[in-house]
Amino acid sequence: MARAISDIQSFQPVARTLMGPGPSDIYPSVLQSLSKPTLGHLDPLFIGMMDEVKQLLQYAFQTENPFTIAVSAPGSAGMEACFVNLVEPGDTVIVCRNGVFGDRMRENVERCGAHAVMVDDAWGDPVNPEKVEAALKAHPEASIVAFVHAETSTGACSDAQALATLAREHGCLTIVDAVTSLGGVPLKVDEWQLDAVYSGSQKCLSCVPGLSPVTFSPRAIEKMQARTHKVQSWFLDQSLVLGYWSGDGKRSYHHTAPVNSLYALHEALLRLYQEGIENAWQRHRTMHQRLKAGLDNLGIGFVVDEPYRLPQLNAVYIPEGVDDAAVRQHLLNTYNLEIGAGLGDLAGKAWRIGLMGYGARDENIALCLKALEEALR
Ligand code: PLP
Repeated sequence: MARAISDIQSFQPVARTLMGPGPSDIYPSVLQSLSKPTLGHLDPLFIGMMDEVKQLLQYAFQTENPFTIAVSAPGSAGMEACFVNLVEPGDTVIVCRNGVFGDRMRENVERCGAHAVMVDDAWGDPVNPEKVEAALKAHPEASIVAFVHAETSTGACSDAQALATLAREHGCLTIVDAVTSLGGVPLKVDEWQLDAVYSGSQKCLSCVPGLSPVTFSPRAIEKMQARTHKVQSWFLDQSLVLGYWSGDGKRSYHHTAPVNSLYALHEALLRLYQEGIENAWQRHRTMHQRLKAGLDNLGIGFVVDEPYRLPQLNAVYIPEGVDDAAVRQHLLNTYNLEIGAGLGDLAGKAWRIGLMGYGARDENIALCLKALEEALR
């Protein structure tokens, strides 16, 4: 039963080690940045910081797209921002589904009044480019290909470059979910010519949840400008948001920015820049190998075949006869350690062990292996 309101005190969370599918462990300096003095969201000092956030996001996405910003809401809002701005009623969109988030894309397409052509792959497999090519040939009317680069529900990484090349060859733009990939595995927006890419602050950036970095290519902007229907969402209509984020000195009120969360994003992106993005990718790979060696010793196997495995999201089979929920509860109670449950088709069959951003480090791996070994004994 809820306690009497007069008994409620300030909330004091314990410090957990977050090794699930996100949110991930947050850099201490990022947490500290949240308690810096709040500025007005049109204060010149704050606007200067937002310009730096844009620059740092361009670095993280490896793009020179001028339209690179953070949507003031979680990854699902970044997803929705891409769909509502690029999809119009009656359009055909090819949607690749190899886990939970491909299906959320379908929902978005249908809610835009468009037709989703589904390309299905098994959970744990990457998106198959041959199936996408067949769908493109069967649906010459399609204008967009949408896929998840790093499927958090399974730990599979798809070949974003190959899928974008196919889409372009058939005159389509791409909408790419990079919520779990940004900062953890190579993601090269300009080199791979991706068009609308969204991410989340709470995964490999190790920032607080609730912000969604997005970037739109000039081709995507052209499509938005050629729309014949008004974007159905006022908040996510990017033509309106841009007035607030644009660096041309004519910044105007759109919504009240989450000022302190943006300080946190600035700090997290700065950490990524200072580490160097290639070094961050390599660190995720190295830590994944170390975790894998320990899991091998415990007889725990991976859901995804090796070439497609995400280093930052390790989906592993729960050993036969082990009580999934009891083990996760034990890790939480005894070690203050969170690992993720399986989702959808993998519920009860797999655990998802995150090595994301600041969480991809030796002491987390040692804790996780020790805790699992003890729990499975
Ligand atoms: N897409 C993927 C691949 C995700 O992993 C998530 C969240 O886990 C989302 C989209 C949605 O992001 P959010 O939970 O921040 O809304």
